[in-house]
Amino acid sequence: MRIIRVRYQDRSFYAAITSPDTVRCLNLEENLPDDIPLAEVELLPLVRPSKIVCVGLNYHDHAREMGLPVPEEPVLFLKPPSSVIGPGDAIVMPACSERVDYEAELALVMGKAAHFVSEAEALHHVFGFTCANDVTARDLQKKDGQWTRAKSFDTFCPVGPWIETQVEDVRALALRTVVGGEVRQQGNTADMIFPPARLVSFISRVMTLLPGDVILTGTPAGIGPLKDGDEVTIEIDQVGFLVNSVVSEGPTDPAAVQ
Ligand code: MG
Repeated sequence: MRIIRVRYQDRSFYAAITSPDTVRCLNLEENLPDDIPLAEVELLPLVRPSKIVCVGLNYHDHAREMGLPVPEEPVLFLKPPSSVIGPGDAIVMPACSERVDYEAELALVMGKAAHFVSEAEALHHVFGFTCANDVTARDLQKKDGQWTRAKSFDTFCPVGPWIETQVEDVRALALRTVVGGEVRQQGNTADMIFPPARLVSFISRVMTLLPGDVILTGTPAGIGPLKDGDEVTIEIDQVGFLVNSVVSEGPTDPAAVQ
């Protein structure tokens, strides 16, 4: 089942996609008709997480392209909830960065709280899967020596377009980035160093994962820059495709930068 979050008649709610052009409200208290035309709803960002937990360097081919050793444990970092945008929204490149990159990632959306869960139990706590773009100011990542600023700008976490609750095998999903019709990044979750169940279990031993929290599972080889005017698509087989435009930030107060 594919789940989206929408606004309709000034109300916001989760809805199931029931046909190519209809959705059904999942909140029965809203007392809405069974099938609402998709054309009449506004798509909202899918998730309002308490945190977005990300994994750096989780594909063998990406570790090779970066010339870095395979990590012995998952390398974790966070993106703030304020960085989330939805399908069709613009990624805004900040004036203080000269290189903003795309990173195609499979995202896990938590359905149940997870605290010290085993690998065997881990995926039972996951509600579903979606596409994410771990947008990164690459120059600031290098300059700062740690990643908080580079990963955290508003609009730097596109997520969507829906939550897919069923995939056949989360360890065999092809994913790719397309920019302006050109394939820039291609990989498969089979190449992950730490698979999704291991990540959920590992993270749950550090911090309690709450319903709605999002885990970005790392990106394959082929990372590269975006430019003003680009349209970037993250595609994951069986999951979906997420399209966002790219714009430059307007002039800023010079005193506020650097
Ligand atoms: Mg990443």
